[in-house]
Amino acid sequence: MVRVAVLDKERCRPKNCSFICRRFCPPVRNKIEAIRIGDDGKPLIIEVLCVGCGICVRKCPFQAISIVNLPDEIGKDCAHRFGMNTFRLYRLPIPIPFHVTGLLGKNGVGKTTALNILAGIIKPNLGSWDSPPEWPDIVKHFSGSVLQDHFKRIMEKKLNVVYKPQYVDRIPSAIKGKVQELLDKVDERGVLKDVVESLELKPILDRSLEVLSGGELQRVAVAAVCLREADLYLFDEPSSYLDVRQRLAVARLIRSLALEGKTIIVSEHDIAVLDYLSDQICIFYGIPGTYGIVSAPHGVREGINLFLEGYLPDENVRFRQEAIRFHLKPPREAQTSGRILYSWEELEKSLGNFHLVVSPGDVQVGEVIGILGPNGIGKTTFLRMLAGLESPDKGVILKGPTKISYKPQYISAEYSGTVEALLRSIAGEKFESSFFKTEVLEALSLQRLLDRSVDSLSGGELQKTAIAACLIRDADLYLLDEPSAYLDVEERYGMTKVVKRIVEAFGKAAIVVEHDIVVQDFLADRLMIFSGKPGLEGFAGAPVSLRLGMNAFLKELSITFRRDPSTGRPRVNKEGSKLDRAQKASGEYYYLVEAEGGGRGKGKGKVEGEI
Ligand code: ADP
Ligand code: ADP
Ligand code: SF4
Ligand code: SF4
Repeated sequence: MVRVAVLDKERCRPKNCSFICRRFCPPVRNKIEAIRIGDDGKPLIIEVLCVGCGICVRKCPFQAISIVNLPDEIGKDCAHRFGMNTFRLYRLPIPIPFHVTGLLGKNGVGKTTALNILAGIIKPNLGSWDSPPEWPDIVKHFSGSVLQDHFKRIMEKKLNVVYKPQYVDRIPSAIKGKVQELLDKVDERGVLKDVVESLELKPILDRSLEVLSGGELQRVAVAAVCLREADLYLFDEPSSYLDVRQRLAVARLIRSLALEGKTIIVSEHDIAVLDYLSDQICIFYGIPGTYGIVSAPHGVREGINLFLEGYLPDENVRFRQEAIRFHLKPPREAQTSGRILYSWEELEKSLGNFHLVVSPGDVQVGEVIGILGPNGIGKTTFLRMLAGLESPDKGVILKGPTKISYKPQYISAEYSGTVEALLRSIAGEKFESSFFKTEVLEALSLQRLLDRSVDSLSGGELQKTAIAACLIRDADLYLLDEPSAYLDVEERYGMTKVVKRIVEAFGKAAIVVEHDIVVQDFLADRLMIFSGKPGLEGFAGAPVSLRLGMNAFLKELSITFRRDPSTGRPRVNKEGSKLDRAQKASGEYYYLVEAEGGGRGKGKGKVEGEI
C-alpha cells in the first residue's frame, strides 16, 4: 500500500486541540513517531511509520488530516508532490499532435497542476520533493512514453508552449494596454484578422484591458494564445463567462489549431463544449486536495460517459458511488402545474443605450424556468426587475404576496464571518433541519466549508455558498444568475438536484440563467429565450416548452444536438454531418435520440424515462 497523508495547514489549529491527533496515534503511543511536531508548530505525518488506521483523521476537530491508502503499483507513477503532507499527482495526460486532449475531473484533483507541468512551469519532482530529480532523470523516468520526448524538448528548451490560465480576471493587473496592441504583439501566425472575426472582437479592439468584462477578457486571452506560434497549446477552463455562441466559437478556433498539427490540451467543465472540442479525454479522479490520478486517454464519447458513470473498467476503479444520469425527456409540451405564482405584462426597460422588451409571461408553482441567450442581452436586467431591484419603464409585474430570493451573477465575499455564520444568519432554525443538512449542504458538498471564513473561499466555494444562501431563504421564487460558474461537473449536477428538489418538494419555483446547455437541459421545465443585438436591444420571449425553446435557441445558433444512447446527455452534431442536415431539415434541433451503435433511431425521440 502507498500511504498518502495530507495536512491542510489552513484548517489545522493546534492551539485549539492540544494535538489530539498525535496523542491518539497508536504508533506514537508505542513510541514510534508517526506524527511529529514540525518547526512551524504543526504536525508532520511520517507516511512510512503511519499504519493508516485513520484515528487521527477522526479525532481532529477541524478535519485537517486526510489519510488514504493507494495500491502499491501507483507509487511508481507519482508525477509530482508539492512537499511533505501535501497534494500528490499520479501520472500525466499524454499530449498527441493533431489532437485536442480534454481533461475532465473535480476541482482540486490536479488538472491545473498537470497543465503547469506539461507547460514546463512546474518541474515534476516524481514525488521526491526533498531531493528533486534533474531533467535527465525526469526524461529517463518517462522513457517509452510520449512524455519522454516532451520533457526532453522542455529540457533542451526546444518546446514552445503557450498557456491560457484559468483566472482571466487577473490579466489586467499583469498586462496593461489596449486589446489591439496586445493582439498585434502576439500575432506570430499572422491570423489576427480571422481570429478577431471568429471571436467577434472587433467592437472591443480599442478598449483597455482593465475595462473589459469577464467574457471579453476570456475571448481576448483565448485569441492571444491562438495567435502565437507554438507546439503545445494549453487552455485552462476556456468557457468561463462565455455564452453558448461564444463557447462554440472558442471551441471551433481551438479545434482549428489541431487540424494544423498542433498539440492541444484543454481543461473544461462544460461537458457539451468539452465533447465538441476534444479528440480524446483524460479523466482525473482522486480526493480533492489530497491526491489525483490521471486515467489513460479514452475516446471522447467513451471518456465522458465513463466519467459520468464514475467507473473506469480498464483500471477497475470506481471513483464515484453514484452515476450521473440524465433523463431522456420526450418532446412533450410543457407540463406545468397551471398554478400561477407570479406573472408580468409586456415589460420595457432602457438602460443607457440598451433597450429591453419582455413578452408577457408567468412562472408556475413547481417549475424551473431556464433562461438562455447571449451575453449583454438583458437577462440580468430582467431578473433584477423581477427581484424589485430595477423597475420597468413600461408594464407591470403582478407579484402578489410572492417572496423572492435572488443570487446575482457576480458574487462578492464581503462577509468576514464563517460560512456557517452566514448561512445561520439567513436560515435561523432552518439551519438545523435535516432537509437543509442532508439535501442542501450535502448536495453542494458544503459541510467541509462551514468553518471557513467567507472571504477566504475560492470562486467555486463562494458560488456554492451563495447558492445555499439563496435557497435557504424563505421564499416562493428563487432567481439564480449563472449558478454553475466556477463549479465542476459534479457540483453542477448537485446544484441542479437541489434546485429541482426544493421546487418540487415545497411547491416553489425558480428562474435560472445558465449557459451550460447540459445543465439547462437537466434543470429547466420551460425556457425563456433572449435574442436581439447585445448591448443595444434585447427581446425576451415568453416561457415555452423545453423543446420549443431549445429549437428556437439552437436554430439561431445553427447547431443541432443529438442524444448519447448510453447516458442520454446532449451532444453537439458535427456541422454539415448527415445527422445535422437531417435534423435541420426536420426542424428538430434538439431532441432526436441516437440509436445504439451510432445510427439514428427514427421515432426514438419519444423515449421517456431514465436510461
Ligand atoms: P484542479 O485544477 O483540478 O482544480 P489544482 O491542480 O489547481 O486542481 O490543485 C490540486 C491541489 O494541489 C489543490 O488541493 C491545491 O491546493 C494543491 N496545490 C496547488 N499548488 C500547490 C502548491 N504550490 N503547494 C501545495 N499545494 C498546492
Ligand atoms: P446579460 O445579463 O444578458 O449579460 P445585462 O442585463 O447585464 O445582460 O445587460 C444588458 C445591457 O445593458 C448590457 O449592454 C449592459 O452594458 C447594459 N446595462 C446594464 N446595466 C446598465 C446601466 N446601469 N447603465 C447602462 N447600461 C447598462
Ligand atoms: Fe497515526 Fe493512524 Fe493517523 Fe497514521 S492514520 S498518523 S497511524 S493515527
Ligand atoms: Fe489538532 Fe487536527 Fe492540527 Fe492535529 S491536525 S494538531 S488534531 S488541528
